[in-house]
Amino acid sequence: MVGYQLEMGGRLNQLRDFFTSRRLVVVSNRLPYNPSRTSGGIRYVKGSGGLVTALDPILRLSNGLWIGWDGGTGAPIKGRRVTISEPEGEGSYQLRFVDLTEKEISHYYYSFSNRTLWPLFHNFIGKSNFNSAHWKTYFKTNAYFAGTILEEANPSDIIWIQDYHLSLVPNFIRYQNPELSPYFFLHTPFPPYDTFRVLPWCKPILEGFLGSEKIGFHVKGYADNFLDCVQKILNVNVDRESGIIELEERNVKVGAHPISIDYDAFHDMALAKRVTKRVEKHRRRIGDRVIILGVDRLDYTKGIKERLLAVERFLEKHGKFRNRILFIQVAVPSRTRVDEYRIMKKEIDETIGRINGRFTGEGWPPIHYIYRSLSREELVAYYRLADIALITPGRDGMNLIAKEYIASQVDKDGVLVLSEFAGAADELTEALLVNPYDIQTVSETIYKAIRMSSREKRRRVEKMQDLGKRRDIYHWVRDFFGEIDQL
Ligand code: UDP
Repeated sequence: MVGYQLEMGGRLNQLRDFFTSRRLVVVSNRLPYNPSRTSGGIRYVKGSGGLVTALDPILRLSNGLWIGWDGGTGAPIKGRRVTISEPEGEGSYQLRFVDLTEKEISHYYYSFSNRTLWPLFHNFIGKSNFNSAHWKTYFKTNAYFAGTILEEANPSDIIWIQDYHLSLVPNFIRYQNPELSPYFFLHTPFPPYDTFRVLPWCKPILEGFLGSEKIGFHVKGYADNFLDCVQKILNVNVDRESGIIELEERNVKVGAHPISIDYDAFHDMALAKRVTKRVEKHRRRIGDRVIILGVDRLDYTKGIKERLLAVERFLEKHGKFRNRILFIQVAVPSRTRVDEYRIMKKEIDETIGRINGRFTGEGWPPIHYIYRSLSREELVAYYRLADIALITPGRDGMNLIAKEYIASQVDKDGVLVLSEFAGAADELTEALLVNPYDIQTVSETIYKAIRMSSREKRRRVEKMQDLGKRRDIYHWVRDFFGEIDQL
């Protein structure tokens, strides 16, 4: 473990000069820490996402600031700030809370962000809801976020705005203080022109993005779609080769920078004694059945229903595997206030009930469904346990589960079946890539994964692990900022 910290220190050192000379100000919809009431008062508990893992140490070394909403977990107090200084000796940084009203939460967050932009950006136009009252609140809430940044930031700061909730913020900032230089990263896909132009507010959204110095996407395809939209909708010159948008007064850089995970942390955890014990315990209970794993937030973009149908098809077609496979599906509750998510949950519950009803003969039900969020340790134990990971989103900006599964393959004997529509498929080319809507082929790919030789499994895992080690989450930050300054 000490070795790991030194190694991480080494990676951080490469960023140290840059971020100690310029303060990092991160802005996202949600803050990285959640307030939690304890007997000793309120404590702030760190979230587990990849972005938090990467940016937390950098914010500490740059004495930085993170601006965002607390997700409704604390009492609103205007201008509330908290200093994050634990663990001691690792530096500190500040959180600045943006308090939202009930109307803003409903219209800006649950509606325009999650029922208009989220489905549209994932190419699910049919699920997109276009409502001008929601748009107005999204506009005002973005202006409010921008106002908070303007109160807090200086021209020497690096302001890094995250994701589709805040697409208008860069332009608001630029308009009010041209000396500030915001950077932007989009964590979802960016849709093709014919999809994006359906949005009645496509023009102001693009103009919002263009307030940035630089805009990052996970893969080249999304960056290309964005450039295409800028050229066709705003009628602006675009140099596709270099990813430069030529505005009258300045240029905007666009690039592909795939986010990743703290590879060493996942790999080390998979080797840890406690995880090994968990794996052995699960194995004793399950016996020698082939374990297939799906892990997702419960979201319609993740392709859970189609995946269940592929497992059903597999059981229909390969009778001898009945009672010899176990499909474990972990679904993390998500956006439960949104109708589409409630309807989808019911449909998935019913599909699992139907398939289990059909194929539970003498033995176990073929599907084990876990509807809750797992701790990192529990999750890594499942990654290590699983013979096959079935990760088949209909569309996904990146999909970190796929990368975490590969990092956790310390025995190098797992097979990754991955949707070609996940951003991760651009890098994880040794996975068995599938079209998640082609249920027959996904079912046959499960068979192929079961039959794969140990040698072939090892070869594929090693190749993906080599890449994962090099292109970890720290590499992502360096890669994004590497082009703009002395790094
Ligand atoms: N995750 C978790 N507990 C769970 C399931 C998932 O902490 O029970 C984490 C997982 O480690 C991963 C993230 O949730 O880092 C999911 O990221 P991904 O990019 O796959 O999907 P997103 O939810 O961002 O769409």
